Amino acid sequence: MEERQVPDPRFESVLTSIRGEVNRQQFETWFRELYPVSFHTDLVRLAVPSVFLKDWLQNYYEDILVNAIRQAVGGEPELDIVVDESLATSAPAKTPEPVEEPQKPEPTTWTAMPGDPDEAGLRRNARYPQFLSDVLLNDRYTFDHFVDGPSNKLPHAAAVAVSDQPARAYNPLFLHGSVGLGKTHLLQAICHSILVRRKDLKILYLSCETFTNQFIAAVKSGNLRNFRYRYRHVDVLLIDDINFLAKKEQTQEEFFHTFNALYNSGSQIVLSSDSSPKDIPTLEERLVSRFKWGLVAEIEPPCYETRMLIVKHKARVRNRPFPDDVCEWVAERFSGNIRELEGAILKVISVADLQERPVDLEIARNALRNLITPNKKKVTVDRIIDVVTRYYDVKQTDLQSRKRSKSIAFPRQICMFLARRLTNHSLEEIGGYFGGRDHTTVIYATEKIKKLYGGERKFKEEVETLVQDIQG
Ligand code: ADP
Ligand code: MG
Repeated sequence: MEERQVPDPRFESVLTSIRGEVNRQQFETWFRELYPVSFHTDLVRLAVPSVFLKDWLQNYYEDILVNAIRQAVGGEPELDIVVDESLATSAPAKTPEPVEEPQKPEPTTWTAMPGDPDEAGLRRNARYPQFLSDVLLNDRYTFDHFVDGPSNKLPHAAAVAVSDQPARAYNPLFLHGSVGLGKTHLLQAICHSILVRRKDLKILYLSCETFTNQFIAAVKSGNLRNFRYRYRHVDVLLIDDINFLAKKEQTQEEFFHTFNALYNSGSQIVLSSDSSPKDIPTLEERLVSRFKWGLVAEIEPPCYETRMLIVKHKARVRNRPFPDDVCEWVAERFSGNIRELEGAILKVISVADLQERPVDLEIARNALRNLITPNKKKVTVDRIIDVVTRYYDVKQTDLQSRKRSKSIAFPRQICMFLARRLTNHSLEEIGGYFGGRDHTTVIYATEKIKKLYGGERKFKEEVETLVQDIQG
């Protein structure tokens, strides 16, 4: 370990450029334990203490690492990340600092009997007295029952990381995505997972609506002290649908202080929302920036393969496995919202039960006849390429070639952005349409165009024209 203390200037310079690319928390989480093994002009080898870290760096930060190394070493060395478990720090995990008790503790919900709703309707869980919530946890909303795919890989992995290491992996964890894509499922999965493994942690899980109602009731009754005690003395606070704070100035103010108190005392905060922090209407800037301190991860509509796996999984756990052709048929027709997909599966099962027949394609067709929206024009990547190449006057073969000149790279990036927005293809699939580029290139392109789109009005209009044209 001694070598570690002799800073290698090239490695230091790698770390410096990484710091410029990621935020402090990401740096601490993913790069702090990186260790230089060797630097050659054709190969740079770095070590990390765990396979998890290695996978993560390769999946999400490879571009940043490679760029940083190229800047430091010059040339185009390959990067090799190896696992060296002896690098794991022997220091014990940092435990959250003890939360200061108020001078005169007041009776709180934690002293109520398990199962008894408190004055505000929150219930303690009979099995887990350290858990307080406004809903009963759904037994199926666990990580075991969550099917991950390209559209939710990052939010899923982040939720797992947070439940493995509360307040150490990402804080806050902010999950957003449109309705029915699994936000509540992931929040509850975090609860389940922490509950069984960390009996020492107090968890409070509730909807933002309940938080708001309780705050209003506390203001009215003049009992803010009890309210604050409840929210500021937990180890993990999960709030579902935080977008409910939109246009509620006073509640935002209160939540701001709740957030600070918890964050400063080392408690984990997990939030879900139907939009990203900056897109929640009238959300105070200081909250927007705090929500971005940890990790903001978007859940996107699942691609076809993931939908297939979800259908398969959901039918299997109900002991009614579907034949492959039925899985395919359902997955093809229900794109987007997983809640609707689930509704479709239940409908098929119930019709099969009624007719006392095994599930087959005919049953599925009958069951779902009325649920399928006819003629919704499906946007394909080919259609996107067609419109974009005409607009920018470039050739399709150029978009799919390795050419990197700006006149070609830019329309290619726009295509990738539009494919993310208008189709349910995975990053890998989209990369495949453009000369087999990998998923990080697609992420980079999408982010770049998103930024331009959010900045320049003229460009935004240009993109919207393209969208209209594509959708016919
Ligand atoms: P949201 O809170 O985002 O509106 P939910 O978490 O309520 O969505 O999910 C809607 C339904 O879809 C739930 O029944 C949930 O179990 C299911 N679901 C969502 N995502 C997945 C997934 N990746 N794997 C399995 N089921 C999922
Ligand atoms: Mg929800």
